[in-house]
Amino acid sequence: MMKAAAISGVKQIQIVDVPMPVIGPRDVLLKIKSAGLCTWEQRIYTGQAKSDYPLVGGHENAGEIAAIGELVTNVKVGDRVTMGSSSCGTCRACLRGQDKGCAEHFLNFSLKGGFYGPGGFAEYKIHRSDGVFPVGNAPWDQAALAEPLSCAIHAARLLDARLGDTAVVFGAGTMGLLNLMVLKKSGLRVAVVDVNEARLAKATSLGADLVLQAGPDIRDRVKAAFLGGVDFSIAAYGSEEVNQDALDVLNTRGKICLFASAHPVTPFAIDPNLMHNRETSAVGVVSADRRDHAVATDLIATGQIDLSPIVDATFPLIEAAAAFERATSSPSYRVMLHP
Ligand SMILES: [Zn+2]
Repeated sequence: MMKAAAISGVKQIQIVDVPMPVIGPRDVLLKIKSAGLCTWEQRIYTGQAKSDYPLVGGHENAGEIAAIGELVTNVKVGDRVTMGSSSCGTCRACLRGQDKGCAEHFLNFSLKGGFYGPGGFAEYKIHRSDGVFPVGNAPWDQAALAEPLSCAIHAARLLDARLGDTAVVFGAGTMGLLNLMVLKKSGLRVAVVDVNEARLAKATSLGADLVLQAGPDIRDRVKAAFLGGVDFSIAAYGSEEVNQDALDVLNTRGKICLFASAHPVTPFAIDPNLMHNRETSAVGVVSADRRDHAVATDLIATGQIDLSPIVDATFPLIEAAAAFERATSSPSYRVMLHP
């Protein structure tokens, strides 16, 4: 048996004993070293998002390989790895390099044995071997953030963001900041918009060229700062108002990136003539292809990106209830569990 932290209801966390997972021929058994509390799990904890209970969350993980299946050749016992998605390698989506669309994409993020969820808030986890990526000697908490970092890398790739381009990121929470860091590394001039001054100060410390407090005249202030508009706007906070602002501040041929989900969701209107005349594109982004996870892991492993400012606090697994309370108080960045 092993310990796991389960969300057993709204604002309820229980430490439970669950059976050790059974390893298959293509699987690895991971001893979890760090796990981030993602926004999705925080929303399930607060009741903002619906879920079946009990749920063992945890899909932002890093750990050490404790055992490997008989067919595994890419890693060995003792390797330090990040954990990403899987892919079959042969379906149409995989062959087109779009394995986000593969039926096996979320294969590693399910948990058997009476619990629903990705299963990373536990002492051990089974992962198929194609979903683990060696991370060298990187600190565990930063390694665990390869998964959210991969989502920001995925966004920059789908937007085709390049040196000299401009962007505005709406929302300076964890995902907004990771988008900022990736876009700055890609050579863009980036502004960050948020209501919260402390979050904006954090964005400045992470390299934002400009921070703007959200307000009624935000569209004019963005356009004034970027001579008529930006190439990309990232909606890293899900609201109708943000989506409308993000669409309005684009220049001709600009792209809006719908990065955040909203709970509850409010649809927003798109003027087809405006999209037509300005050649605007809308790009939805969630999760990442495996290649994005590989890039994220390499950036962390080689120290090319420092994610330590994103780590807000760490708690032992058995104090998961306190960790969830910390993560759902504002403003906080990533709270990490250490089994
Ligand atoms: Zn596939």
